[in-house]
Amino acid sequence: MMTTYWKCNSEGCTDTVTYRFKGLCRSCTTYELGEPKTAVYRERVNADGSEYHKIEGMRVGQFVTRRQKMEMDKQYSKDRKMSTKMRKARQIMREEGIDISKEELMQIGETVDLEQLVGEEE
Ligand SMILES: [Zn+2]
Repeated sequence: MMTTYWKCNSEGCTDTVTYRFKGLCRSCTTYELGEPKTAVYRERVNADGSEYHKIEGMRVGQFVTRRQKMEMDKQYSKDRKMSTKMRKARQIMREEGIDISKEELMQIGETVDLEQLVGEEE
């Protein structure tokens, strides 16, 4: 069971304690004959008392993060392969007397298939 934190968020509330359970704010709720007249519930917060983001959002966030990480890993290995190819391509070009900057090659790399230039990797 995850620990939850609850805190009254009402303006001018004197209760600054963060609770471990939801409930009525004893400071804001007004009672009449022992029954709550104006019920003010605590709102969910983070452990440090900051604004809490809904669990649905957190789940989506984690999912996106995991997927993003996979995408990042994929992109990283793609980038590494790309830079290897670029290095090879620049080398080939230099051998042919063409001095090309990495930036120029990047632009070419977008339109020209570098694999055709450097050949398939062993
Ligand atoms: Zn309150």
